[in-house]
Amino acid sequence: DGGDISELVKKADTAMYRAKQQGRNRMETYSGTMEDVVRERLAIGSRLRLSMDTMAGFYLLYQPQLDLNSGRLIGAEALLRWTLPDIGTVPPDMFIPLAEEFGMIVPIGEWVLREACRQLNAWSGRFAGGDWHLSVNLSMKQLQQPEFVAGVDRILEESGVDPGRLCFEITETAALLNLESCAQILNELRARGIRIALDDFGTGYSSLLLLKSLPLSIVKIDRSFTHDLLDSSATASIVSGIIAMSKGLGMSVIAEGIETEEQLEAMGRLGCEGFQGYYESRPLPPDLFERRYLADNPPEDA
Ligand code: C2E
Ligand code: MG
Ligand code: MG
Repeated sequence: DGGDISELVKKADTAMYRAKQQGRNRMETYSGTMEDVVRERLAIGSRLRLSMDTMAGFYLLYQPQLDLNSGRLIGAEALLRWTLPDIGTVPPDMFIPLAEEFGMIVPIGEWVLREACRQLNAWSGRFAGGDWHLSVNLSMKQLQQPEFVAGVDRILEESGVDPGRLCFEITETAALLNLESCAQILNELRARGIRIALDDFGTGYSSLLLLKSLPLSIVKIDRSFTHDLLDSSATASIVSGIIAMSKGLGMSVIAEGIETEEQLEAMGRLGCEGFQGYYESRPLPPDLFERRYLADNPPEDA
């Protein structure tokens, strides 16, 4: 892939970059498309920077989380979208890692929380019935900000939301990076009534220490387990173990990525209580979410 040393080294570097981006500790061979990928990343990165001031093109979709047995709404997850007029919608799996890398996730995350709280406040007045929450995904970079809790307090106050209706989803890699300070921050948030969910459980280290050390209300079983559940008895055993453990620790469990009725039934047989996935609904724009899932939840005294 090159006629001289410097060109070969440059291409090897591109492959190394790709290996790191794919989760490190792995091998990648150079291919021509990698440079396109690098170029694309830089282009998206600079578009991100340009969009930061106004947050134009960013919006949230809401995916319902339901009780597996009663079908009742238990929550919604706010999922960020970014649409550019010339490129179309950039998937979050692409732009969120870039925003983290280029140091833009903190203001983006703040915008997400503010927007989610604004929406939550609008909904909770009109659809107060039922014990449902709104989940917001947090990046570890946000948690590492010394002013994070103060920022949350400010947004809570501005928006007037009941913290008991709010849930933060964190991933275990974020938590494991600095368990002690992470536990302290999460305890402060929990003390305000905010619920904490451990996202994508089972994909990283699946540390049992985390389940014990963090003030978790919810454990979310990663969708790769849901996907393999029906074909692998090993997966079923692991899922059953995660569910038993989480329940024993007083946490509720939500299965992610339920796409079929069979998966839903299998999760139910293993004792899972909550689920989320395309089988029930894709992430929805707020007006549609409201019509489908909240209209049945008028305030209790209405
Ligand atoms: P996540 O938090 O695990 O979110 C669940 C992802 O699974 C969402 O993808 C959702 O659309 C997708 N999903 C839901 N049901 C199904 C299903 O039945 N089958 C399949 N194949 N997928 C399903 P999405 O919206 O593309 O988000 C991807 C990831 O981006 C999220 O994973 C989360 O880690 C991150 N993300 C999204 N919004 C935010 C945000 O506001 N802040 C931060 N920090 N991260 C976010
Ligand atoms: Mg999530
Ligand atoms: Mg997840």
